[in-house]
Amino acid sequence: MSAVTGEAARRRTFAVISHPDAGKSTMTEALALHASAITQAGAVHGKAGRRGVTSDWMEMERARGISITSAALRFEYRGHVFNLVDTPGHADFSEDTYRVLAAVDCAVMLLDAAKGMEPQTMKLFEVCRHRRIPVITFVNKWDRPGREPLELLDEIEERTGLRPTPVTWPIGSAGNFHGVVDRIDGRAVRYTRTPGGATKALETTLTPGEAEADLGADWTRAREESDLLAAIGAEHDQKAFEAHEATPVLFGAALSNFGVARLLDLLVDLAPAPAPRADVEGAARPLDAPFAGLVFKVQANMDPAHRDRIAFVRVCSGRFERGMVLTHAATGRPFATKYAQSVFGQERATIDEAFPGDVVGLVNATALRPGDTLYEGAAVEFPPIPSFAPEHFAVARSRSTAKAKQFRRGIDQLDGEGVIQVLRSDLRGDQAPVLAAVGPMQFEVVQHRLAAEFGAEIVLDRLEYTLARRTDAESAEVLRRQRGAEVLMRGRDQALLAVFTDQWRMRSIQREHEGLTLEPLIAGQG
Ligand code: GDP
Repeated sequence: MSAVTGEAARRRTFAVISHPDAGKSTMTEALALHASAITQAGAVHGKAGRRGVTSDWMEMERARGISITSAALRFEYRGHVFNLVDTPGHADFSEDTYRVLAAVDCAVMLLDAAKGMEPQTMKLFEVCRHRRIPVITFVNKWDRPGREPLELLDEIEERTGLRPTPVTWPIGSAGNFHGVVDRIDGRAVRYTRTPGGATKALETTLTPGEAEADLGADWTRAREESDLLAAIGAEHDQKAFEAHEATPVLFGAALSNFGVARLLDLLVDLAPAPAPRADVEGAARPLDAPFAGLVFKVQANMDPAHRDRIAFVRVCSGRFERGMVLTHAATGRPFATKYAQSVFGQERATIDEAFPGDVVGLVNATALRPGDTLYEGAAVEFPPIPSFAPEHFAVARSRSTAKAKQFRRGIDQLDGEGVIQVLRSDLRGDQAPVLAAVGPMQFEVVQHRLAAEFGAEIVLDRLEYTLARRTDAESAEVLRRQRGAEVLMRGRDQALLAVFTDQWRMRSIQREHEGLTLEPLIAGQG
């Protein structure tokens, strides 16, 4: 094994996908704190990765206005390097939220025990399905009243199509959480809450006799249900998990660190390490080929004082070394990597080297766009990241006709950067493009950047469309005549998109005109 493949094998690059409030921030912090507490306790000599994780990183980003970062939190655990790539949610949900999934090898789907599969979880899951990213499910907040565990499994199966294979099974109903039966190693684990601020939950392994005496009926029931699961074949199946057919399920409470250690162990033991990534030709690029990386996000104006631009690159092959001069596949131009950083929230640190699975932030990356490839040596290019289904639409106009040129240039630039999708039609004309977004924050970014960087103040008029479908020229003829619908051309890929006010309107048009071509775009409404 080469040094690079060895380093790749100990990388785990993943994202937590969830609906706002399910506990993503709490879980992120719990994972990193638990891992670093363990690593530090056992470390002979420490290296990097010991920076504290601040719980308020999201708030701090928000306080900066529209510059919200999404990058990777890096920590070590059991000799493995974890890269937790953030998926911005809440008000900052945007196309980037989906794009970052192009950078991960695995996803942790975090569910609130009382709410189950929520809309944003579902949308992110759809992207995982499309990319065939293996998913581990963590049912969170089991310390609070919630649903029946079997009912949750049914819902997971129904909504995702994945077979849930519980790795742990709760002892005690939601809100009355004593511990879990570990269905892989057979242990009964009792959780004891430790006072606030602790980075570890107290876990005691009980013998069956002790569990019986200590936990009584709750233990018996958990064991019976676990046996029942075994009888219906809900056992962990590594192949099915990797093939995106089954999802291991854990029960826990991130707030009390219940189940957090088990999740880290599962990521080490079951989650895939970086694998050779297919290039545009479909050839898998070996991990130990020269450096190649994929830009999955470009963040502008993170530091208003410097107006810099950071491109986040996922290393796909080779060893990255700061200072190396790479080639930007889209332009063929050289790209110097003197300024390479790891960025998470407000924290930045210089990165000197990185391996497959790692995320590197490149400063001064004005030419880089999401989906771009950077490489060393012979040319290689990875497939572009697809555009996702927009759900918010607005017409943009320049406030002043004198600025029409700047306005156009700015819109084209932001379209190219992937900040927003720009849709046009002959009907609306060039000076009134339709901006289409996955989250409304993208409009704010456009408004801000057009004014700040191009001197073009804009007026935005929200349109009442909420969904888009890909269509063709023939269907477009029909759709153009319908109320509550419109056909627009997307600048990025010249795709014809039909937009509708709502599902109901779309369906009724489909009923009236059979055979219309209306294909779902990735993510969003199915
Ligand atoms: P996010 O929006 O997904 O990042 O969710 P947060 O991590 O901010 O959590 C939302 C709320 O749920 C906060 O008040 C957390 O303290 C709470 N929370 C998160 N995990 C748990 C848990 O395991 N148990 C309980 N009771 N509350 C939790």
